[in-house]
Amino acid sequence: TSSIFAAVEMAPRDPILGLNEAFNADTRSTKVNLGVGVYYNDEGKIPLLAAVKEAEKVRLAAQPPRGYQAIEGNPAYNAGVQNLLFGAESELTAAGRVVTAQALGGTGALRIGGDFLYRLNPNATVYISNPSWENHRAIFEAAGFKVGDYPYYDAATRGVDFAAMKAFLLGLEAGSIIILHACCHNPTGADMSDAQWGEVVEVCRERGLVPFLDMAYQGFAEGIDADSVAVKAFAASGLQFFISSSFSKSFSLYGERVGALSIITSSKEESGRVLSQLKRVIRTNYSNPPIHGGAVVAAVLASPELRAMWEEELGGMRVRIRAMRSGLVEKLAARGVAQDFSFVTQQRGMFSYTGLTAEQVEKLRAEYGIYAVSTGRICLAALNINNIDYVADSIAKVL
Ligand code: PLP
Repeated sequence: TSSIFAAVEMAPRDPILGLNEAFNADTRSTKVNLGVGVYYNDEGKIPLLAAVKEAEKVRLAAQPPRGYQAIEGNPAYNAGVQNLLFGAESELTAAGRVVTAQALGGTGALRIGGDFLYRLNPNATVYISNPSWENHRAIFEAAGFKVGDYPYYDAATRGVDFAAMKAFLLGLEAGSIIILHACCHNPTGADMSDAQWGEVVEVCRERGLVPFLDMAYQGFAEGIDADSVAVKAFAASGLQFFISSSFSKSFSLYGERVGALSIITSSKEESGRVLSQLKRVIRTNYSNPPIHGGAVVAAVLASPELRAMWEEELGGMRVRIRAMRSGLVEKLAARGVAQDFSFVTQQRGMFSYTGLTAEQVEKLRAEYGIYAVSTGRICLAALNINNIDYVADSIAKVL
């Protein structure tokens, strides 16, 4: 008799995780993995932040019981999320117009948001930027939606092709769902200007689009407050919109799965109905979120001392990434590279679209043990004082 799994085909490997597997199997001592989406410190390690250590120490000593959380998670955590997104004195939160649910990372927030939206309007199309984080398409397709893309990156200017993007959005059907990277666009590092965000808000209003902001890197461009420009522009608009947010990177808590979905409604009364339906989505997915990561983040955000400590550490990550950006540009120039790489210092967040071709990326891997995504995306946070010269040497040689 044949197995019930006889018809199961091998799925394609995840492109980024596949790269990690190949990197781990590489025996060269000089190898460097620039393909990751993770912040490493100057020692090449994932940091455990001092503010997190402190909050964990207190939590461990208190030996809290491990009952179930509410379906929407930890109220103190959810309040902390709202505070970071909208600021301490937000009219939206005061008016009861924000529904926030703790979620399993930014990914989990996108998925429960997608499931909620699908129940509302299964015929809507979801539009993601071209290019985008590769999981965006997969998540919304898994929720049941048709997924298209809108023009975004312009390789010629290494910036946003805003005219093309705006024209495209203006042509969309009302009710279309638009996924927008709130800051530090992954994979390109190219963000819209404040004025362009204002225009996007007006297009969403005019066309009746459903904005869904993905905030995975708050604090990595300019700082907590400055990086919420897009969120604040939508908050001031009076529109309804969605935000998925994540502390994976900003708290270096990747594996604890700390994220949140926030839904901005038109009234407190509407928030009650929306939350009741969102809870059904969560209840049938994973019932309620895990405790530890959310409790740690909530404790850090609620304590003025720990919060200041965290912002300082986050600032340290941001500054180190910037130093790696300018360091790489200078070192390439010092090696006689004619091509102008100064755009790398303009890009924001952890990533850069370097313009390296798939062939050059392959050569970097084969000859130098330097791993990057075939699109030419590199993670600047994987560079450090010990490997940056070797990486600059190698890039100069493959150009
Ligand atoms: N959204 C974007 C744009 C990302 O780059 C990432 C992580 O790489 C996520 C969401 C998901 O983050 P998390 O690990 O919190 O699920």
